[in-house]
Amino acid sequence: MKELIFATNNKHKLSEVRPMLEGKVLIHSLSEIGLDGDIPETAATLEGNALQKAQWVYERTGRDCFADDTGLEVDALGGAPGVYSARYAGEGCSFDDNMDKLLAALDGVENRKARFRTVICLLENGQPHYFEGRVEGRILTEKHGTEGFGYDPIFQPDDSGVPFAEMDMESKNRISHRGRAMVKLIDYLKR
Ligand code: IMP
Repeated sequence: MKELIFATNNKHKLSEVRPMLEGKVLIHSLSEIGLDGDIPETAATLEGNALQKAQWVYERTGRDCFADDTGLEVDALGGAPGVYSARYAGEGCSFDDNMDKLLAALDGVENRKARFRTVICLLENGQPHYFEGRVEGRILTEKHGTEGFGYDPIFQPDDSGVPFAEMDMESKNRISHRGRAMVKLIDYLKR
């Protein structure tokens, strides 16, 4: 079975991605291979950050690996926070800080259209391959639910009656940005 290292320190992402690859790809987390440290993500695009994270692992291991980078793009904010979604409320901020800042920025705003966009970069023998997934939805006016992570309590996908934070992982994976990008990665690996 093909083996890949997932270049993330985010346990939530790992637990979403792992079941999707079960029986198809043997996936190793950074802690499982004894690699720790802060992975840089200083690029100006999701593609650039995904490549940077995967390269950080490749340079240290020489092994095939992949990384994802995700942004929440809010139409009324001209696509912000986008690539800066992780530190929207400042360096070292919490998920709640980010959601509170976004809810305040959209206070009284009618157009709540937004999308999550994920770019996965796979490094195979050092060569990059990109896979993108997106999900359209809207930003709620308050937080609901306790599942998932990040902006999940305030993002409701179109055609769904509940936000991501009220879905189980399987339901989220079926329609999410990351789930859709993962399906493309898996299709590529099956070729
Ligand atoms: P990252 O740079 O790919 O780790 O993602 C940037 C930020 O987007 C994260 O810190 C989270 O706040 C948010 N994010 C990423 N993926 C998700 C998701 O699946 N649901 C909600 N928020 C997410």
